Amino acid sequence: MSATTNPSGGRPYLAIPGPSVIPDAVLQAMHRPSPNIYAGELLDLTASLVPDLKALAGTRHSVAIYIANGHGAWEAALSNTLQPGDRILVPASGRFALGWAEMAEALGVEIEILDFGTAAAWDMARISDRLAADKSHEIKAVLGVHVDTSSSIRNDVAGLRDVLDALQHPALLMADCIASLGCDRFEMDAWGVDVMVTASQKGLMTPAGISFVFFNDRAAAARARQPRVSRYWDWNERANPEVFYQYFGGTAPTHHLYGLRAALDLIHGEGLETVWARHARLAQAVWAACEAWGEIEDPQQGLRLNVADRDLRSHAVTALHLPSPMASALRAWLEENLGLTLGIGLGLAPPDSPEWHGHFRLGHMGHVNGQMIMGLLGGIETGLQALKIPHGAGALATAAKVLAEQVPTQR
Ligand SMILES: *Cc1c(COP(=O)(O)O)cnc(C)c1O
Repeated sequence: MSATTNPSGGRPYLAIPGPSVIPDAVLQAMHRPSPNIYAGELLDLTASLVPDLKALAGTRHSVAIYIANGHGAWEAALSNTLQPGDRILVPASGRFALGWAEMAEALGVEIEILDFGTAAAWDMARISDRLAADKSHEIKAVLGVHVDTSSSIRNDVAGLRDVLDALQHPALLMADCIASLGCDRFEMDAWGVDVMVTASQKGLMTPAGISFVFFNDRAAAARARQPRVSRYWDWNERANPEVFYQYFGGTAPTHHLYGLRAALDLIHGEGLETVWARHARLAQAVWAACEAWGEIEDPQQGLRLNVADRDLRSHAVTALHLPSPMASALRAWLEENLGLTLGIGLGLAPPDSPEWHGHFRLGHMGHVNGQMIMGLLGGIETGLQALKIPHGAGALATAAKVLAEQVPTQR
């Protein structure tokens, strides 16, 4: 039997932290014959995406659209701003920060990682000390992952800008918002972010395959100083509608553009503040259930949230520990018996180690509502019972209480 067996029938539920659940409106918008890419509707549609993307990012500056996943946006951001031999600082709270740093290293950039482990946010004092010691301003950029999807830590991007400003350090502030955009509050211009990367398949609810690099004037000035930028990643033309929407550096990602149009309509129709509040409310229900499950005589034997401090938890993804191999057993049981797929653990243990089977993640990003979250939690409760995994009582009632007490702002 394949891993996607769903013997109970009904709609399966992919609750992994990306790709996220695709709304029917997005699927329907994509279900069409190929349009003409040289004239007509598609050009207007593409132009219409830009103001809505900028509103989502909280910027009045520029956005370049790439036919790539998040890794492509990572490379694009680096390719436009850095040269081999440049130095960057990367404060890390998980696997994705390390991955972005490794990509920079492969481009010949000198990387310096401040590793805060897999369950802690950035230590601003340590970042400040390192930047203060950089008197000659050799550090050209600071790369920060807003929500590290492996650990589910949410970092203080605006606080990092404050550190740079207090030292009058000119390094670019570059943020990865691939997991957080459209889920956790993010305001590019207000927070002083110079470059931001994101992708389509998480909070943006569209299939993987297009990604975005937002950049301000300081970043554009850095781009202008580069002796060369590889043609495909050069954001100058990609951010210029006259040149780009017509030619897209090749064939336009036609169906993704239609899908994204529908997704942005959903987000802005609901209202960004309401979208953020919904994610916060649903995340609190998830945490409440997980904390209740963890209340057993010997907490070491049970479920534990990776991030202890609520203020540091993402509203889009939750990383959890369950003694090995119970996390993997639970994931397998839920997928086979309930059609419910949870995310694998990432970066919390080496893939070949026995500990690898002691972590998993829940995605609650994008197209999710209260009944889906109660279904997700009800599924986990069922799996814990079926596999006789020690767990505290009352988790579902606690989660329901969280949702019941917080009256939704929209009907
Ligand atoms: C998913 C993710 C990535 C990688 O995106 P891909 O589209 O898989 O390349 C990078 N950073 C973060 C924070 C992510 O959540």
